[in-house]
Amino acid sequence: MATQTEQQIASAEEHGAHNYHPLPVVVSSAEGAWMTDIEGVRYLDMLAGYSALSFGHGNTRLLAAAKAQLDRVTLTSRAFHHDRFGEFCTRLAALCGKEAVLPMNTGAEAVETAVKTARKWGYEVKGVPEGTAKIVVARNNFHGRTTTVVSFSSDHEARHHFGPYTPGFDLVPYGDLTALREAITDNTVAVLIEPIQGEAGVLVPPEGYLPAVRELTRERGVLFMADEIQSGLGRTGRTFACEHEEVVPDVYILGKALGGGVVPVSAVVADWDVLGVLRPGEHGSTFGGNPLACAVAIEVIALLESGEFQARAARLGERMHARLAELVAGGGAVREVRGRGLWAGVDVDPAFGTGRELSERLMDRRVLVKDTHGSTIRLAPPLVIGEEDLDWGLDQLAAVVG
Ligand SMILES: *Cc1c(COP(=O)(O)O)cnc(C)c1O
Repeated sequence: MATQTEQQIASAEEHGAHNYHPLPVVVSSAEGAWMTDIEGVRYLDMLAGYSALSFGHGNTRLLAAAKAQLDRVTLTSRAFHHDRFGEFCTRLAALCGKEAVLPMNTGAEAVETAVKTARKWGYEVKGVPEGTAKIVVARNNFHGRTTTVVSFSSDHEARHHFGPYTPGFDLVPYGDLTALREAITDNTVAVLIEPIQGEAGVLVPPEGYLPAVRELTRERGVLFMADEIQSGLGRTGRTFACEHEEVVPDVYILGKALGGGVVPVSAVVADWDVLGVLRPGEHGSTFGGNPLACAVAIEVIALLESGEFQARAARLGERMHARLAELVAGGGAVREVRGRGLWAGVDVDPAFGTGRELSERLMDRRVLVKDTHGSTIRLAPPLVIGEEDLDWGLDQLAAVVG
């Protein structure tokens, strides 16, 4: 007799496309930092939907905002105004210190929006000859899965057999200022980077890199576009990862946590001299900026306005990184740890197991994580995680790699 879990996985695999390889756990409910599977087993969520669940599962304030909005109006399309849109844009712009917001749904769409905006800005403001605009991006980036976005991925799996690729992108090594300086030409309209590379293994660039990118892009008349979809909105202990080095990009690209783990909400946030290049009919989305999305995101912004979650991520992050540093110093299987705030990439000696095997061993100990490349485990627990739960989760990690 197959267990309930086996039956669920079999049906998922029978008719669900195999574009993911999930851990063999079937979640049926969740609260805070804990998920419960269909057999009633509880697991500590140390992934938080890649930061989409930064405010925890079933956050009462976010659910209340969603439920209240569900009873009023959920979708108008942008053909009409609705009464949550203005507040959402005003408060998100203020949170970012910018003038204008263009809402979309998924992260990849926000990246596409930023790419289109930068190109149009390049032709209409910078004066780049039509059809020649270039955007510089970093090797090992992750900006999403659309055809244009995978065109500038350096990851074989993400790209292979999805061509022909969209031209107009130049790849440089992440953190290499000389390469970036050399890549920028008169046709370059933007530099698009993650201030911390998430999927690549939570790679923090060398100190001084982001300020130097800021200075270089300003000097050369190029937009600095920061993809803060995973790093932003509290994860690193600040509202934005760029803040750690007091850098203000021209364009913020946001997603994941902006939807509070309830609905997909993404946005491009910039000043009018950039976003103002888009006029009616030139870009849009049926669901982008819908009333339900705005209602949830307004509550997310309210959570962030208090500063409470940034402070919590900083405090618990320090605790987590101190513990992880002990694991590195202990001379066990952990080779290196990177990250900021409540976010870490933990490199394990490959002889000790692949990231996948380690994730499975952690699952046996009731902790859910996701590997990134090779033998790296990514830790990104919800920012609401309790101190004792965090310690317990790290105890399980220590037991697995000790
Ligand atoms: C997840 C992510 C994306 C893509 O977001 P989707 O909502 O999955 O399309 C883009 N950039 C970064 C840095 C991400 O982490």
